[in-house]
Amino acid sequence: MKAWTLTKPGTVETNPLELRELPVPEPGPHEVLVRINACGICRTDLHVTEGELAPKKSEIIPGHQIVGVIERAGAEATRYPAGTRVGIPWLHKTCGKCPFCLSGRENLCDAPEFTGYTVNGGYAEYTVAHEDFVYPIPHGFADLQAAPLLCAGIIGFRCLRLSDLRPGDNLGIYGFGAAGHVCIQVARYWKQKVFVCTREEKHRWLAMDLGAIWAGGAIDEPPEKLDAAIIFAPAGELVPPALQALKKGGRLILGGIHMSPIPSFPYPLIYHERSIRSVANNTREDGHDFMKLAALIPIRTEVQVFPLEQANQALNALKHDGIRGAGVLKM
Ligand SMILES: [Zn+2]
Ligand SMILES: [Zn+2]
Repeated sequence: MKAWTLTKPGTVETNPLELRELPVPEPGPHEVLVRINACGICRTDLHVTEGELAPKKSEIIPGHQIVGVIERAGAEATRYPAGTRVGIPWLHKTCGKCPFCLSGRENLCDAPEFTGYTVNGGYAEYTVAHEDFVYPIPHGFADLQAAPLLCAGIIGFRCLRLSDLRPGDNLGIYGFGAAGHVCIQVARYWKQKVFVCTREEKHRWLAMDLGAIWAGGAIDEPPEKLDAAIIFAPAGELVPPALQALKKGGRLILGGIHMSPIPSFPYPLIYHERSIRSVANNTREDGHDFMKLAALIPIRTEVQVFPLEQANQALNALKHDGIRGAGVLKM
């Protein structure tokens, strides 16, 4: 099979991924072999490729928003028949026995596996995954449109859940790429008023198209105070202006796996019971709940498609704000 591998992280401008011919992987007893049709491009792939997330393997296939069809199941995998269309997300596997797994917080598992980081991912024609960690894809979504739901969508959904908003509340979204453009659709469905801060004008247009009541520059102050804000951009310098925009008691949620250092700020910005909370990964419950909701709303993802052969170009486009909505590789 064709697969992109990373052996030495480097800036994406140097095209660190290599396209190789590799054997199709064998599914383990509880795994399924998936023929991949599409794989979303996530900012985390950039962090892996550029080494901001420390390498876990000497060679890795990136990609963790995988949509494909089960070709074959391992000897003891009986959950889904061959031919089932499934998604494979970032949360590849959890241990099931640490205190976090046992208390309904498997997103914080002590011994997790992550797709495209600790185990091979979806920038390839085939991959394998444990049957308990794949999601059936609702019928209403084409492969390419479904891919961004699997990380951008699920993580944005978890951020919204943790932001604890009621209908009519004000939500700020900082950074408006793949996650932001899905998150706003859920927030609008839940009748929240959305204000978007993003540095790219075309992203502001997309935000207004999707129902934002205001869209401004990266650190512009929204015209109304916010009940909660979510920062999707990996930029720590957004934290003080986002705190500044919150009402008393407001929640600031950090949605990224990596962020540049957060500058110091005066205590009054966080006083009056404002809070800052990061989001790490997701539980399977988040994933299943979100996929159902996505079909119900229904979420419409805006995708920019790249052939599998253009993985390096796709990552470059992502890094330089060149993608409207979400980037997806097509096999
Ligand atoms: Zn665990
Ligand atoms: Zn991701």
